Parts: sequence; C-alpha cells; structure tokens
Amino acid sequence: MTTLKPLQKWSNLSSANRQSSPPDDSLRDLKYGRCMSFFVAGNWKTHLLSDEANTLIQQLLDQCNQDGVAVFPPALYVPQVSDQLRDSAIGFGVQDISESGFGATTGDLCAQQVAEFGCQYALVGHSERRQRQQESSQWVAEKALAAVTAGLVPIVCVGETLEEREAGNDVATVMEQLEPVLNLVPVDSTLMVAYEPVWAIGTGKTASADQAQAMHSEIRARLSQIGMQQTKILYGGSVKAANAAELAQCPDVYGALVGGAALQIDEFAAIVAAFQERH
Ligand code: PEP
Repeated sequence: MTTLKPLQKWSNLSSANRQSSPPDDSLRDLKYGRCMSFFVAGNWKTHLLSDEANTLIQQLLDQCNQDGVAVFPPALYVPQVSDQLRDSAIGFGVQDISESGFGATTGDLCAQQVAEFGCQYALVGHSERRQRQQESSQWVAEKALAAVTAGLVPIVCVGETLEEREAGNDVATVMEQLEPVLNLVPVDSTLMVAYEPVWAIGTGKTASADQAQAMHSEIRARLSQIGMQQTKILYGGSVKAANAAELAQCPDVYGALVGGAALQIDEFAAIVAAFQERH
C-alpha cells in the first residue's frame, strides 16, 4: 500500500491560529492551511467504476484544481483518489462515517482510518442515509463528533421533505435535525452544514434563491446564537450550471454540495466558476 503523507489539518493548528484566522468570509483549507472563500463539493454517491473515477479526477485536475473544491467518491476509491489528488488543491472526503471508533462494527467507516488515508471531510446525515438507513439526528450528531475527534470536518446534511415544507414545518424540521449536533460537538469545532431540501435532491427541482437564502439565514441565526457563526452553510439539491450563479449570490450560501451534476465535468466546472466569480 502507498504510504500517505500526513496532511496539515485545521484542527491541528494551534488555538492561537484558529482564533486569529480565517477571516469571517473564509474557511481554512485543511490540506494546505490556505484560506478558501467558497466550497463546492461533488458527492459521487455510488456512481462510477474505478477507471471512470480516475478519468473524472483527471478532468477535475485539468479544470478545477483550486482551493474550495472537493469530491466525495465511493469509499472504495478513496486510496486511488488520494494518490491522484496528492499534490493538488482539491480536497476529498467520505460520504458517511461511523459514530464509533475502532472495533466490532462490520462494514462501517472508522473516522481514524478515513483520516489516515488523507480524507479531510465526511458527509454525515445525508437524506438518502436518513431515509434508507434510518439514521436519527442523534446518530448523525454522534457521527459528526467522531469526525471532529479524528480531525475531519463533518458536513452535516439537513433538509425537509416536501410534506414538511407544505405543512409549514420546514424550519422546525431543519432545526430539529441540527440541534443534536450543536449540543454534542464542541463549540470551536470546524464543521459545515449542508441545507439539502429532500424534495430537491436528484429531482431536478431546485430551491429558489429566496427559499435557499431564507433557510440559510435561519441556520446562520441559530449558529450565531451559540457562537458558531464561522460555520459555513452549503446548499444542495439539483445544483447545476444553469442555477449556480443565482444561488451563489445569496449572502449565506457559501457553496454547494452537488450530486448529479458533479459527474459531468463541464457542469461541475461551471458551478465552481459561479461560486468563484461571486468574489
Ligand atoms: C446530493 O445528493 O447531495 C445532491 C445534492 O444531489 P443532486 O445534486 O443530484 O440533487
């Protein structure tokens, strides 16, 4: 097996550095300690065979090799992605993480093992897992804590169903999903929140910029109440080249978590450009 070189992690920076930077509108990149001003990540889910993953990574290296870009490949491809991205600015992570460490949890992804392979991020609480694996918000919070403890940045996915939105319960649902995380992780943790309305994931329906901003502003207010105002909030749900610029203009939309469009390099590169051009 290839020996991976250790990457500088934001969580490993001294507390003095962590307090003095990053500035309000940026997030320190875990890989090189540089400041990022947006974050656009591709969630590949269980798409692609390994040679297709290699091709997509090569395309990303050619077109999107910059701070603030990250990919979430299937876990099996993490070693090859780690090798390919070794000297690049592109970050990478896993799509889920176990709440427990080493031990008897067959099939789980242990946070320390994930970190050993150079991952910097872990998605937790994606709606597909909340639905398919019946992950509770408390379980998701424990996953977020496991990630933080291993030096990974969890990206906590939250979002309401269409029924919840139509019943006027969208904000309450999102806050209920978020609250166990905020109760469990230390207040100085580096994490991100991804607002992904379930009705917009993989459906081609995107929240309007006003809908996205309204929810992001609610999340921002709650984070600020407890001293986590530095936490970045991403939008996810059918983001594509055609709607990225509008979403990127929302003041509280720091970046995007992209599913389907992340598999097409032209679409993904256009989304990255939309968020980059905002600055
Ligand atoms: C996702 O799965 O996180 C997602 C946002 O998917 P899509 O962009 O395909 O809606």
